[in-house]
Amino acid sequence: MKVAVYPGSFDPTTNGHLDIINRASRLCDKLIVGVLDNKSKVPLFTVEERVAQLKEITKDFSGLLVDFARANNSNIVIRGLRGVTDFSYEFQMALTNRALDSDLETLFISADTQYLFFSSSQVKEIASFGGDIANMVPEIINEQLRKKLELKELN
Ligand code: ADP
Repeated sequence: MKVAVYPGSFDPTTNGHLDIINRASRLCDKLIVGVLDNKSKVPLFTVEERVAQLKEITKDFSGLLVDFARANNSNIVIRGLRGVTDFSYEFQMALTNRALDSDLETLFISADTQYLFFSSSQVKEIASFGGDIANMVPEIINEQLRKKLELKELN
């Protein structure tokens, strides 16, 4: 059985992430989406909130296990590439991971052109200024992002 891992911050999940999940899940028997804390980023949503969002968004996908699992007998890591700016960081990470575990292979899936400019940070910035992000994220993310930003404004 081919098991792949797609790790990321997913803070929050965008339609670009979903596209990679969709396409990667067709390449393997089981895809584990790992929600990780990237120490260089200050998250808006907690890991629990991000996992719950992903579970809700992907509940109709068949054969997809959404769970955090660092090592689950998988030797395939899936990452998305939007362009050269992603590449240097992603390439370095892939080499580092393989140095740590020589069995681990990183597979890159290129972003679909319609999602090329989507990023979680951009989505958060646009939403914080009241911009429309409806075509960039799933509906529940749009709702939860607005609620989260309203709460932040109140504090
Ligand atoms: P991280 O903090 O680990 O980079 P992200 O949630 O920002 O986590 O990204 C997770 C993965 O998804 C990365 O490989 C990133 O390149 C990819 N990704 C992010 N946005 C898109 C997009 N719009 N299309 C395709 N891949 C994307």
